Amino acid sequence: MNSTIHGHKSAAAKINNKKPVIFCDFDGTITISDNIISVMRHFNPVGWEDILDEVISLKISVKQGVGRMFSLLPSSARADILDYVLQHTEVRKGFTELLNYCIEQNILFLVTSGGIDFFVYPVLSPYPITTEHIFCNESDFSDERIQILWPHPCDQWCHNDCGMCKVRVIRNYPGDQYYRILIGDSLTDFEGAKLADLVFARSHLITRCEELGIAFTPYEDFLTVIDHIDKKVVSTL
Ligand code: MG
Ligand code: ZN
Repeated sequence: MNSTIHGHKSAAAKINNKKPVIFCDFDGTITISDNIISVMRHFNPVGWEDILDEVISLKISVKQGVGRMFSLLPSSARADILDYVLQHTEVRKGFTELLNYCIEQNILFLVTSGGIDFFVYPVLSPYPITTEHIFCNESDFSDERIQILWPHPCDQWCHNDCGMCKVRVIRNYPGDQYYRILIGDSLTDFEGAKLADLVFARSHLITRCEELGIAFTPYEDFLTVIDHIDKKVVSTL
């Protein structure tokens, strides 16, 4: 989509008069593991692994897969699922420091998550992020089984049936006004990485960036991210 060569060296020139904005993935990025997979593995409803395989092999979309996996679970499991997530989720090192850094430097920090509101908001509640800066899917527990709602669907330019469409969120911050920084780890970050000016990658996103020839900075904790942004972006503003 975007053939510009991204990278550290070109970053300084591009951020002139542009406001930095960070689009940060949640599952596997802010949290060490993927909460949807952890929940499915723990509650183990019959058939979830087949659905996951179909998502991974691209037979069905992420939206279809996530919707179908949660529909295997009864709405009555809501409290147990949340308890499980809150007890087992580990937030990646340096997250508090990154948020504080963004506040100090006036960098807009957005969470762009393919996760679900009923666990994303509680996990993030101890941190200084306003609700309108968190983009995720929603949930309905009024039926017998959990239903996922999609308040941020793909727009006319995205045909991936994302569920929570990250590229749509990213496009709301136009590249001529914003210096767009993406932090991610996996499938739901692939399209956004093509649009971003600066990509922080780990896990599958590294492989994908290498395949696509997109420059990226590897990270295992957010202290690395702060250090890089401070040296390569903020110091050149
Ligand atoms: Mg992720
Ligand atoms: Zn989309």
